[in-house]
Amino acid sequence: MKIVVMEPIHEEGIKILENYAKVSQINVDTPLKRIIEEIRDADAIISRGFIKISREIIYSAEKLKVIGVHGVGVDHIDLEAAREKGIEILNTPAALTETVAEYTLGLIISLLRKINLADEAVRMGRWNEKYSKLVGEDVEGKVIGIIGLGRIGSAVARMLSCLKTKIIYYDVERKKEIEEEFSLEYVDLDELLRRADIITIHVPLTKETYHLISKSEIEKMKNGVYLINTSRGAVIDEEALIDALRNGKIAGAALDVFETEPIDSENPLLNMENVILTPHIAASSRQALIRMAREVAIKVIEKLEERKFK
Ligand code: NAD
Repeated sequence: MKIVVMEPIHEEGIKILENYAKVSQINVDTPLKRIIEEIRDADAIISRGFIKISREIIYSAEKLKVIGVHGVGVDHIDLEAAREKGIEILNTPAALTETVAEYTLGLIISLLRKINLADEAVRMGRWNEKYSKLVGEDVEGKVIGIIGLGRIGSAVARMLSCLKTKIIYYDVERKKEIEEEFSLEYVDLDELLRRADIITIHVPLTKETYHLISKSEIEKMKNGVYLINTSRGAVIDEEALIDALRNGKIAGAALDVFETEPIDSENPLLNMENVILTPHIAASSRQALIRMAREVAIKVIEKLEERKFK
C-alpha cells in the first residue's frame, strides 16, 4: 500500500503509517505536476488543508480510497469529486477542539487588553504608553456572541462561562442542552449582530457560510465591536472587514485565518494596529499536533485494512 502525506505531520503519525504502508512525504511547495505523479498509485493521502485537493488531483489518483484530514475543515477538498469516486474522507475533530477553544480565549483577551501592542511597546522602549495607548477593555460585563455552537463553539462557551459575561449564540441548529448547561441565550443572526460586544466565529466554510459576515452584517453590529475568527477566512468578507476596521465600526479583530493563505504581502491588514494576525495556528499546540497525526494515521490504516484497532 502507498500513502502520500501532503504536508508535514508529527513523526508519531508517520511511524504508525510506516508499519503498514510505503509512505511518501511531499512538501507544501511541490509543483502540481509532481504531486500528480506521486499520488497516481496512492491508496490514501493525508492532507492538512494548505494544498488544495482538487478534482484534478482526485481523478489522477486511480487507486485512491481515502483522504485523511489532519484537522477538521474539509473545505479544501473537492467534495463532489471525492463522492463521485467513492473516496472516504476521515478527519480528526476530537484531537483539537480544546486546543482551538483555548486559543480563541487567548485571542479575545489579547485583543481587548492589547497584549500584542504592549509587548511591542516594551521592546521598543515606549514603556509610558501604559498611560495612554495601552489601556484596554475588560471582558467582564461584555455580551459575547458565538456564531456556530458545534464542538469548538461549545468549548469556547464553556471556557467563557467562567468569566462574568453574557453569552448569546447563533447556530442553524439550536443546542438546548449546552444552552442550559452554560446559561447561553439562543438568538437569530441579526439579533446577535445587534447585541454582541465581542463576536467569535466557529462555523465550517460551506456555500452557505461563505461571506456570512459581509458589509450588511457589519452595518448591523454595534459600533466598536470586536471580532475574532479562528474558523475560515472566507466566512468573512475581508474587504468589508478592512473598511470597518478603518472607520472604527469594528474596534479590533483577531484573525487566525484569511481569505488567502499565506496572507498577501499587500494586504492592508498587515499595516493595521487594531488587529492581531496569526498564521492559522489555532490547532497547533505540541499536544494537538501529536494527537492529530496519530488519529489520522490510525483512521486511514483502519480504513485501508478494513479492521478496527483496539
Ligand atoms: P462542528 O461541525 O462541530 O461545528 C460547526 C457548527 O457550525 C455546527 O454546530 C453547525 O450546526 C454550525 N453551522 C454550520 N453551518 C452554519 C450556518 N450556516 N450558520 C450557523 N451555524 C452553522 O465543527 P468544529 O469542530 O466546531 O469546527 C468548526 C470550524 O473551525 C471547522 O469547520 C474549521 O473550519 C475551523 N477550524 C479552524 C482551525 C484553525 O486552525 N484555525 C482548527 C480547527 C477547526
